[in-house]
This record gives sequence, structure tokens and C-alpha cells, in this order.
Amino acid sequence: MAKYYPTIGLEIHAELKTATKMFCNSKNDPHEKRSNVNICPVCMGHPGTLPTVNKEAVKHVLKVGVSVGGVIADYSEFDRKNYFYPDIPKGYQISQYQFPLVKGGELASVVLTRVHLEEDTAKSFHVSGEEIEEHSLIDFNRAGVPLMELVTEPVITTSAQAVSFARELQLLLRTLGVSDADMEKGGMRVEANISVSPILGTFGNKVEVKNLNSFRSVERAIEYELKRQESVIEEGGEVVQETRGWDEEKGETFSQRKKENSHDYRYFPDPDIPKFLLSEIPEFSVERLQSELPELPWKKRERLIQQYALKPEDSELYVQDSFLAEFFEKVSAGLKDKKFIKLASNYIVSDLVSLQKESVVNPMRLLPENFTELIEMTATGEVSSRGAKDILKVMYEEGGAPRIIAEEKKLFQQSDESFLISVAEKVISANQKVVSEYQKGKGTALQYLIGQCMKETRGSANPAKMQEILSKLLKS
Ligand code: ADP
Ligand code: MG
Repeated sequence: MAKYYPTIGLEIHAELKTATKMFCNSKNDPHEKRSNVNICPVCMGHPGTLPTVNKEAVKHVLKVGVSVGGVIADYSEFDRKNYFYPDIPKGYQISQYQFPLVKGGELASVVLTRVHLEEDTAKSFHVSGEEIEEHSLIDFNRAGVPLMELVTEPVITTSAQAVSFARELQLLLRTLGVSDADMEKGGMRVEANISVSPILGTFGNKVEVKNLNSFRSVERAIEYELKRQESVIEEGGEVVQETRGWDEEKGETFSQRKKENSHDYRYFPDPDIPKFLLSEIPEFSVERLQSELPELPWKKRERLIQQYALKPEDSELYVQDSFLAEFFEKVSAGLKDKKFIKLASNYIVSDLVSLQKESVVNPMRLLPENFTELIEMTATGEVSSRGAKDILKVMYEEGGAPRIIAEEKKLFQQSDESFLISVAEKVISANQKVVSEYQKGKGTALQYLIGQCMKETRGSANPAKMQEILSKLLKS
């Protein structure tokens, strides 16, 4: 088969987290279970009603814009995108066409075209069953919810790159607190435009794939579609420019409709919404927006590696999980000896993370200062690593200070020099045969003697110290 060059461009929608909807005072509550309760004449599209722009939603999009280094518009407006479908009560969707809030920018090495603001549609449900006639129901709670749309340039070349871009966007939206961006719940929706071409630098006809409800589906759908398009061309055909759906079960894309052109929508500026000059609104100035940004994921990624010399995969865990990151940073700040930071991080990424997964206790009762102390006790050999794990579990589920728990559970290791010497002397005199084997050069005999000492002290001896003392005594 000839070689084909894939091109992918993404269009990603995200429901924004705001108190009210985009153009009215109805509640924006994605968790509402009852249908058609968060509605009003405005979002139901009743004649004579007037939309008012939700400032919070605009600000959310502008924050995304400054984060990705896009150009914030000075002049912006909303347009009507006209089409008929039962889930848009007005017969048009308010969106942005020529003057989006943000142009350009870059995220995860992918160049962005634009980021704009629009309103979400209602949700339709298709009901059928054995004793019910087939019918459809519509829930308007979602109609008019603020929706951000981000469009990338056609510069992505692999399914893996598309997925890591979408993941990075999700992380950004969550870090900014502007969207929950949950793909499974439809809070973030990825549409993939896909084409292949036999000649590098030219584009083939593109297909837009919709209803991708997980990162996994994004990856699978792109892989499937690239292969399908390649074989269409191989067989002498031409890829039809169209919109296709994704069948999760079959693992296939299927034709939905021939792609409409933007002129079909008869976009025009919404005459009911005043145009705005963002530069006239002080709280939307780039300086102001920038000063309000939290630490962005890519900056945090770099800083954690720089500051703590973490492995990239550990740093990534903290970038993805702000709770663990905050915990780790508090612990690190509390450690008297900073060379124990690595040990602390190891206990967090392995033991603490497993406790989070296994334990039914939620939230955990473990305090960072107690964890810090446990790390110090472990690093100095006061407790064994086995003992530390037991103490950690108790602290996680019940709280408490590690010293008290170690005392109660008899987990302190004996490090007292004269006590350990007396134990060693006792074991040596009782095991003369093994001792002479050791002195003849059988190294493993020492392990046996350490084992006997541990037995003698019912496991409480510090094994590192024990070994040190035994080898010293046997040499002399
Ligand atoms: P349309 O007019 O069909 O909406 P746009 O030019 O607005 O197309 O692009 C929509 C999306 O499709 C963008 O994400 C863009 O990067 C992507 N895209 C454009 N052309 C191609 C192509 N040939 N192959 C893959 N993706 C493409
Ligand atoms: Mg377009």
C-alpha cells in the first residue's frame, strides 16, 4: 500500500461552569435530574424575549485564551446560526462567527485557530420499547448553557497526538475551574476532522467524526477512519466529505449526513445583543486576566521537576492530581532534611496512592505534618519500611501521630547499641558452627545470624544496625 499522510483537526466543545445560563437567569446545573426545571421564556425561545450576555462565561473563555497565548479580541459580537432541529427552541443557535473572543494560541504544541462562545442545545431522548410507541422527548435544562468551542488548525498527524491534546485541554479547563470537562458525561465533546493524502503538504477531503464520548473512542475512531479512507483511495475511490458518527460497539464510523457549508447557516449578527469592545471592560484586560490565572499545568510540570528533582512520571501524577500535589509540597516543606524528599515522594506515589484506591475511608484522615514525621522516622531507621506501611495505613484511616501509633503497635526498631550488642553476642555463642562457616568465607551465613537476632528480638531490632554490629564482632 502506498504511504498516506494523515491530517487531523479538532473541534472541542466544553460546557462552562457558571451559576446561570449564557443569555438568561435560568440555573446552569448539569447535575439536575428532573427534566425541564431550569428553563425560562428566554432559553425556551419565546418571541419578544431578550438575551443578556453572561459575563462570567465570557471571562472563562478569555482565561482560556490568555492561558494558550491567543489574541484576545477587542471587538466581538454574537451571531445567529440558523438551522432547524427540535433541540434548538429558537430555530437558531447563538454563536460567534466572524469575531470570536480569541484567535490563535497554542496548546500542547498544537496551533489553535480560535476559541469562541455559544449556547448549548437541549437534549433529546429517543424512547422505544415493546409496549410503547416510538417517540422522542426533549429536556431543555441544557438549552442555553454556555458552551466554549475551541478549534485547532489541521496540524495533528496521529491519533495519539490528538488524544494528548484533548487531555491537556481537559486539564487546563479543570485547572482554570471553568469546566468539569467530563467526556463521559458530555461536558466535553471532541469532534475529529480527519483526512489522508498521498502527497505530503496537500490535504485530502475531510470527514468529521462526532459522538466521541471518551479519549479511547477518540483514538479508536481516528485509527479506524484513517484506515477506511486509505482503503477507499486504494480501491480507486474518493473520500466523501461528510459527517460520520462513531459506533462504540462495532468500533466503526458510519455516514450520518453530507457536510453542510457555513453559508447554509445564514449567519448574521444577533440584532438583540449589543456588540462589545472588550478593551473597554477593565476586568477583561489581558493583564488583569493573567494576574488571576492559577499555575498552569505545563508550568507546574516544569517547576516540580526543577524544584524537587522528581522523575517525570511522578511529576505528571502531581500535575494531574492537585490534591496529591498540594500534599506532597506541604510534606516537602515540612521535612527538616530535604534529602528525604525523594523518599517522601516514593511513599506518596506508591503507598498513599494505593491506600486511596483500596481504602473505604474517604476523605483520608492523614495530615501532611504526620506524614512528614513518619518519613523522618523511616529515613533514620526508627521504624522499618514494613512498619512504616502499617503506620501509614492507620494514619490514613484513623488519623493520629506516627510516634504514638508506633508505640502502641510496638513498631519502633531497637537501635540501642548496647542492647543490640548483647543480642549479637548471645546469638554468636549459640551458633558457633555457622560462625565458623562465615569466617571461612560463606557470606550467606551472616544473613542466617541476622535472622536469628531478629527472632531473638521478635523483629524489633533495626536490621541495618544489627548487620553492622554482627560483622564488626565477627571480624575481631
Ligand atoms: P468547515 O468549514 O468544514 O467547518 P474548517 O476549515 O472550519 O472547516 O475546519 C474545521 C476543522 O477541520 C478544523 O479543526 C480544521 O483544523 C479541520 N480541518 C480543515 N481541513 C482539514 C483537512 N483537510 N483534514 C483534516 N482536518 C481538517
Ligand atoms: Mg468551521
